[in-house]
Amino acid sequence: MSKKETENEAKQLKEKLFMHKKNAYLRMSDSEIKKCDKFCEGYKRFLDEAKTEREAAGYIEREAKAAGFVKFDKKKKYKAGDKVYLINREKSAILAVIGSEPIENGVNLLAAHIDSPRLDMKQNPLMEKDEVGYFKSHYYGGIKKYQWTTVPMSLHGVIVKADGSKVIVKIGEDENDPVFCVSDLLPHLASAQMKRSAPELIKGEELNLIIGSRPFKDDEISEKIKLNLLAILNKKYGITEADFLSAELEAVPAFKARDIGFDRSLVGAYGQDDRVCAYTELSAILEAKNLKKTAVAILTDKEETGSDGNTGLQSAYLRYFIADLAAIFGARARDVLSNSKCLSADVNAAFDPTFADAFEKNNSCVLNGGVCVTKYTGSRGKSGTSDASAEFVGEVRAILDKNGVIWQTGELGKVDIGGGGTVAKYIANLDVDTIDVGVPVMSMHAPYEITAKTDVYAAYKAFEAFINE
Ligand code: MN
Ligand code: MN
Repeated sequence: MSKKETENEAKQLKEKLFMHKKNAYLRMSDSEIKKCDKFCEGYKRFLDEAKTEREAAGYIEREAKAAGFVKFDKKKKYKAGDKVYLINREKSAILAVIGSEPIENGVNLLAAHIDSPRLDMKQNPLMEKDEVGYFKSHYYGGIKKYQWTTVPMSLHGVIVKADGSKVIVKIGEDENDPVFCVSDLLPHLASAQMKRSAPELIKGEELNLIIGSRPFKDDEISEKIKLNLLAILNKKYGITEADFLSAELEAVPAFKARDIGFDRSLVGAYGQDDRVCAYTELSAILEAKNLKKTAVAILTDKEETGSDGNTGLQSAYLRYFIADLAAIFGARARDVLSNSKCLSADVNAAFDPTFADAFEKNNSCVLNGGVCVTKYTGSRGKSGTSDASAEFVGEVRAILDKNGVIWQTGELGKVDIGGGGTVAKYIANLDVDTIDVGVPVMSMHAPYEITAKTDVYAAYKAFEAFINE
């Protein structure tokens, strides 16, 4: 064999035997890229409209109704093609499209979460200190606390008054609204602060949201700033200080979702973990029709604090829904669950070239690499993982390839460097074949997170392919 022939043979063998990774843009046609860009315009609108789990649940209910879904009623009969939804305490949602196959054959589940890291206001939040008015906060989810200072914040949530009536709060999103902010120390005076370790650089009790500074016009009384603020709040919402005791107020970054980059290839926004999977999953189920297997999309709360509580996936609300659905068709919930399959739709850490040390590149997902399939999560010896079986990975892989979905694999960073989990294990624990599939995110859990548009679109295509199996 000549040198040239040997070279050719090696080239051909490499083409045949190696795994090929190619940037999504180089694999998509111009018309596909156009569709992807258009899809992400809708995605950005969703991010701006639904910054909290309650707002997301409201958005989901509106969209579901518009798409012909009706409120689930366990006493009614349903047939193939029927579309139902259930809202759990205004914070979680389940949507289902009934398939033509018997429900005993199992359902195809998609599960994303609609809560994101943020600053929750304490139950007795209002404080005046040295003539500045504050809300005291308790952060929600895993954050680098120092990232949440000097960022314009908006306030979202509800206040339940003594008479039981509820006030909806959403302030700081409109251009003409005021915003709120946590202060930080100027560098000139921060030499002592800069010696603190990073988790303590800003301490939990220093995450105080500035809400005002103008005193009530009376020299005689104390706490004039607080009084003036309460007077404003009383006028605007009809509340008194005690009403905060039964309130849920969440401070989130006030900025809007934007394109990042001269080429506009990336989306920058708050709360993309995991509203990126929520939106893509929702889009897939809203468009679903003529399904063989019944499809169930779960959009849950409380993932960021461990999925506990009655709106998190460790609660029984999903099991109850499946049981009610099974009963309608005369089936047992356990048979439905045992035959079901689930894509746990949550984000993964995108390889960050600036912090390459934290990743093992061969097993990390990258921006524009497509939707990421994660066989196992967990940390330090796969602790806390559900670890999808090779057989199920094989099945999902075949579905994605058959449907031309651009996908990659990745685990969360280097072994022993950290780790994380998702709702996958809580669903897998119900005897459901479950695997993590989601969008790579850069700067995860920061006030401003980054995703690639092609990956967002690929997630939507993956979810669509899965429920249409
Ligand atoms: Mn997540
Ligand atoms: Mn998260």
